[in-house]
Amino acid sequence: MGFITKINRFLLQRTVRKSKIPLKIWHQSIAQMPLMQRYTNRQKMQLRLLAGQVLNQKSIQPVNGFYLNDIMRITIATQAAILLFGFENPEQDSGLTWIRNWQHILVYPTPFHNGRKTTFNTQGLMGSWGGFESGETHYQGGIIINWQDDQPHPLRKHANQVLLHEMAHKLDMLDGDTNGHPPLHSNMSQQVWFDVFSQAFEQLNAQLNHGIKTTINPYAATNPAEFFAVTTEYFFEAPRVLKRAFPNVYHQLALFYRQDFL
Ligand SMILES: [Zn+2]
Repeated sequence: MGFITKINRFLLQRTVRKSKIPLKIWHQSIAQMPLMQRYTNRQKMQLRLLAGQVLNQKSIQPVNGFYLNDIMRITIATQAAILLFGFENPEQDSGLTWIRNWQHILVYPTPFHNGRKTTFNTQGLMGSWGGFESGETHYQGGIIINWQDDQPHPLRKHANQVLLHEMAHKLDMLDGDTNGHPPLHSNMSQQVWFDVFSQAFEQLNAQLNHGIKTTINPYAATNPAEFFAVTTEYFFEAPRVLKRAFPNVYHQLALFYRQDFL
């Protein structure tokens, strides 16, 4: 082992030690998270390291007079770790490269007003939309969520996980475009991803146009970026529902997130 490698390993071990979440409060936090139940004990320990690195490197701040206790902060960091689990190996690298493009998670107590006004252009098309949002992601900037929608809830048929949704937008933005096409791994095909997602997106829109009740949240039909973010929520929270509605999308997401729950 070279001198530099030895130094790097020493620094990494020191970072891992410093950012470890104390065991007692970690167990208290994950006990209320249904999403954690599918992981083995060994995987949970890796998620603990990853969540510790998220807490160490990102700022999780309450806004609007809200207060976050340690368990709430750990819960949010662990949700982030679940999404990153297939991307980052906390025992080999503490860089969190897949979430390098943002620093802050702002947490409102409840859905918040985005501060904009709804405007229409001369053709009558909407220019901007103002209203209450569950979460928001800015291209340059952090993620905004609200605790009411983000706190752990029993898994159900309809996914509603605001942090995973907003983080999916950030992954999507890594290649410069917000178009539902994040940078893919080398064992994946760009063409297959594009074909599978466009087909499913069109199918969902066709169902809505025909007044058919859709299995997944119709918000996914807004645009390809929202389709990727909403199907990411389903992939983690309601994988069976997603696999039944769009089996090829489920398969592509399993390759992308390097996790498969079914
Ligand atoms: Zn969105």
